[in-house]
Amino acid sequence: MTTEIEELYQEVILDHSRRPRNFGELADAAVRVHGDNPACGDEIHLDVKFDTSGALEDIKFTGHGCAISQASASLMTMKLKGKSRAEVVEMLCAFHDLVTEETSEAPKTLGDLRVMKGVRKFPQRVKCAMLAWRAVEQALEQGAGEATVSTEPA
Ligand code: ZN
Repeated sequence: MTTEIEELYQEVILDHSRRPRNFGELADAAVRVHGDNPACGDEIHLDVKFDTSGALEDIKFTGHGCAISQASASLMTMKLKGKSRAEVVEMLCAFHDLVTEETSEAPKTLGDLRVMKGVRKFPQRVKCAMLAWRAVEQALEQGAGEATVSTEPA
C-alpha cells in the first residue's frame, strides 16, 4: 500500500516537473524574485501580481533545476493563486512543517502539495522543495520591484 502511494507521489512530481503549471513571465508583475539554491543548482524566477486587497492576483514562474524544485514551484503557484496574504503565510508555514517535521501530519489544505512529504527524509532536498516558497515569502515582504533570495546564508 505504502509503495503504491509513493509511486503516485512520484508520478505527480514528475508530471509537474515535466509540464510545469503557471510557467512563464508576468508582463505586469509587481514583484519579481530570483531564487537560487546553489547546493543543487536550482533556480526559480517568481513573478507576483497583487490585487487591491493585497491578495495574490496572479503568480507565475520560470526556472530550471531538479524535479523537486520545479514541481514544488508548479504546485505552489496553483495553490497560491487568488489567496490572501494571510492564507499564503499560513500555507508557507504548513508546507515548511510538512517537509521538515517528522511528526507533522499533512494538512488537507495543502492538497497535492502533500506529495512533497517524502523530502523530509532528505535534508538536502528540503532546500529544493522550499526554494519557490522562500521566493514567495520574499515577494510578500518586499511587495514591489526585484529581489534575490538564496537557500544558502550570504
Ligand atoms: Zn534541487
